[in-house]
Amino acid sequence: MELIFELSGRGKRGDTLPESGIEGVIPTKFLRKDPLEFPEVSEPEVARHYIRLSSLNYHIDSGFYPLGSCTMKYNPKINERIASLEGFREIHPFEPIGMCQGALQIMYELGEYLREIGGMDAISLLPSAGAHGEVVSLLMIKKYFKDRGEKRGKVLVPDSSHGTNPASSALAGFEVVPVPSDERGLISIDALKRLMSGDVACLMLTCPNTLGLFEREIERIESIVHKNGGVLYLDGANLNAFLGVARPGDMGFDMLHFNLHKTFSTPHGSGGPGGGGIGVKNFMKPLLPIPRVEKIGDRFFLNEKMDASIGRIHSFCSNFGVMVKAWVYMKILGGNGLRKVARGAVLNANYLLSRLEKHYEIPYGKGRCMHEFVLSCEPLRKYGVRALDVAKKLLDMGFHPPTIYFPLIVKEAFMIEPTETESKNTLDEFADAMIEIRREVEESPDVLHDAPKKTPVGRLNEVKAARELKVNWYD
Ligand SMILES: *Cc1c(COP(=O)(O)O)cnc(C)c1O
Repeated sequence: MELIFELSGRGKRGDTLPESGIEGVIPTKFLRKDPLEFPEVSEPEVARHYIRLSSLNYHIDSGFYPLGSCTMKYNPKINERIASLEGFREIHPFEPIGMCQGALQIMYELGEYLREIGGMDAISLLPSAGAHGEVVSLLMIKKYFKDRGEKRGKVLVPDSSHGTNPASSALAGFEVVPVPSDERGLISIDALKRLMSGDVACLMLTCPNTLGLFEREIERIESIVHKNGGVLYLDGANLNAFLGVARPGDMGFDMLHFNLHKTFSTPHGSGGPGGGGIGVKNFMKPLLPIPRVEKIGDRFFLNEKMDASIGRIHSFCSNFGVMVKAWVYMKILGGNGLRKVARGAVLNANYLLSRLEKHYEIPYGKGRCMHEFVLSCEPLRKYGVRALDVAKKLLDMGFHPPTIYFPLIVKEAFMIEPTETESKNTLDEFADAMIEIRREVEESPDVLHDAPKKTPVGRLNEVKAARELKVNWYD
């Protein structure tokens, strides 16, 4: 693959601009003497160069992307088309409220849909990612107890949780207390009872958890937390597993975040704009960040006067384009469609699990999962093969690898989330590839260490990259 500088040839041009006819406007002494070292290329060369570059990228429109915990579902193109309509795209944050009633209506309706799905009393769409929703919620919890004169400085987090949970807790000024998992891979009820006390502000629970298992004793968990005066928070990143089938609010969760970019099908990856709206029960509603989209009669407005609010957490109304896409997605699917999403996600994951369980170790779940499952590559270690090697080999076979080395409680973890948008054909191709790799592990393990061979770059030296960090390109 050539760099554009290598395609360059003196005098080649990609444009033909007319003579400007205004020679001599800039005094000669200010004109540069040496030519700029820009590449000189023709128009077809530029076009082909960038098309070639764009096709090096692996994305959800090019293939299967079973990245566990990330819900990499196909993003319907109609979402994009509608979000890029001029009336949405060109809207200015300082436009008078009377001129953007339609935009406010979309935010209001999206909030209502999420409120219903979550079984919550109020919504804020302002947080711009799941992690942001966590921090905002924890700041609300902190203020809630402070306003009541209660001293609660701890947050309980299961040891299977996503790294953002302890990170958000620490960022919001809490002490993080890990709760161990039991032999089923669920939160240990005994440990929870022991750790839950009057100085715990909140239990942050992911359900289904990162092993793809539903917390079977959710009602007991709820009663332990609430008996001790704590708040029960749902990390809603895995909502794709039971969307429209059961409601977190009915299970006793007081607050949750949604990941619009996961469950509600807005594109993600590479740090683009996301949506991490939160839902809360009534007692937390006054603390929600401002502004809040509200409705009187058939007029929408932004409420910025809320005395108990934690204040502003984002400029203007946050990532509006993401909200439009999520709204279109829900509008098209409707309640029944969203329920089918969850059912399809669980069915697809269980199908893959059933095809792989004879070939790989499944440490938890006894052959049943929700929307994802975790297998362990630990038994491959005796052949000198690690989860990393299997993941790299998958790249050569045309698949984006699953999430590896997470959750931390599984050795050599390999976390697979197929999502509902994949056909049986794709699932079978992936399963065949995994089974083929398992055979190679025994027959020629060394080959796996050399993968990937077919990608634009080969295996990177990750140790060197971490130890010799080079942040200045121009050094
Ligand atoms: C993705 C994820 C998060 C964080 O969400 P972001 O939107 O990436 O900030 C938190 N918890 C779990 C379980 C997740 O999968």
